[in-house]
Amino acid sequence: MTRPFAFGDPERARALADAILLLAPAQRVKIVHVCGTHEVTIAQHGLRRLLPERVEILEGPGCPVCVTPTRDIDLAVRLAEAGAILCTFGDMTRVPGTRRTLEDARSTGADVRTVLSASEAVAISRKTDRDVVFFAVGFETTAPMTAAILLDRPPPNLSVLVSHKLIPPAMAALLGLPGAEVSGYIAPGHVSTVIGTRPYEALSSEHRMPVVVGGFEPLDVLYAIALVLRQIRDRSPRVENAYPRAVTEEGNRRAQAMMAEVFEVSDVAWRGIGTIPASGLALRERFGAFDARRRFPAEGVEGEETIPGCRCSEVLTARAVPADCPLFATRCTPLTPVGPCMVGGEGACSIWFRYGGRPRL
Ligand code: SF4
Repeated sequence: MTRPFAFGDPERARALADAILLLAPAQRVKIVHVCGTHEVTIAQHGLRRLLPERVEILEGPGCPVCVTPTRDIDLAVRLAEAGAILCTFGDMTRVPGTRRTLEDARSTGADVRTVLSASEAVAISRKTDRDVVFFAVGFETTAPMTAAILLDRPPPNLSVLVSHKLIPPAMAALLGLPGAEVSGYIAPGHVSTVIGTRPYEALSSEHRMPVVVGGFEPLDVLYAIALVLRQIRDRSPRVENAYPRAVTEEGNRRAQAMMAEVFEVSDVAWRGIGTIPASGLALRERFGAFDARRRFPAEGVEGEETIPGCRCSEVLTARAVPADCPLFATRCTPLTPVGPCMVGGEGACSIWFRYGGRPRL
């Protein structure tokens, strides 16, 4: 009788670890994933300890709240303080802006509400005459939900502060940064369910970069690592799909069509990285009436990126791991976060703290 496939099967994990050992080149390689959920799987299951030391796995800019620029947070704080009902996802309320977080604003009387979905913000706006602003953050995974509410005749008192970002341009931008030294990418499974595998083709062929789309179970991640190493060994960089049970070449065409109808691609700032061309979304003219950036003036909101002592910009660009930061687990903890990477459930520093936080976590 065939045994059912078990994602946590230790025998399969051991076999993959053996394969990784055989495939790993003699020199150091740095594999970068772009997803907090991948980092959780790696840290929670101690996968780095199964790898030879010369195979490094780092998280890149895969935490959506971590890469949200301070200017957008400062604008959200200003709108909340000016009397709007500000709705956003839970982690976003604790990320530091230049001077305040949205939680700080709430503690002094602003109406900041945590929502689990964009449609909750719509429900709130239907029950009030006040301005309701949905602070829309996240990658290609959450952008279709924002598009969906705008295509469904939202109430006129709702507006959206769009801070959505696109993953493939950020992966490409990382390759141009001094010290990033990426040997191969594990592309995020959930983003890829929406965009498919095609958007990684240009990145892979132009930079001769291995890109493997990976799932989130421990065996998925080990398998993706093995495939990246095999591409490096064979000098055959390409896009491979190691998550075919959820990801196709085309992706979710309906979600893509909704995004294309509502948004246009624009140059946007990423916290810790800077402006990346064509890496974000802005509302199309047709939806201008719902655009919080057009509806409310943002003069004087500049956003100061630098936090003294915080190395988030290096963590977010795979040039450091959380344990390299002298503030990690000392001054900076999830209860006293100094930088954005210690706030969100997908931030590398927060994940490392949660699961023990040592260099070979
Ligand atoms: S440990 Fe804290 S201060 Fe250091 S990089 Fe991470 S978030 Fe920034």
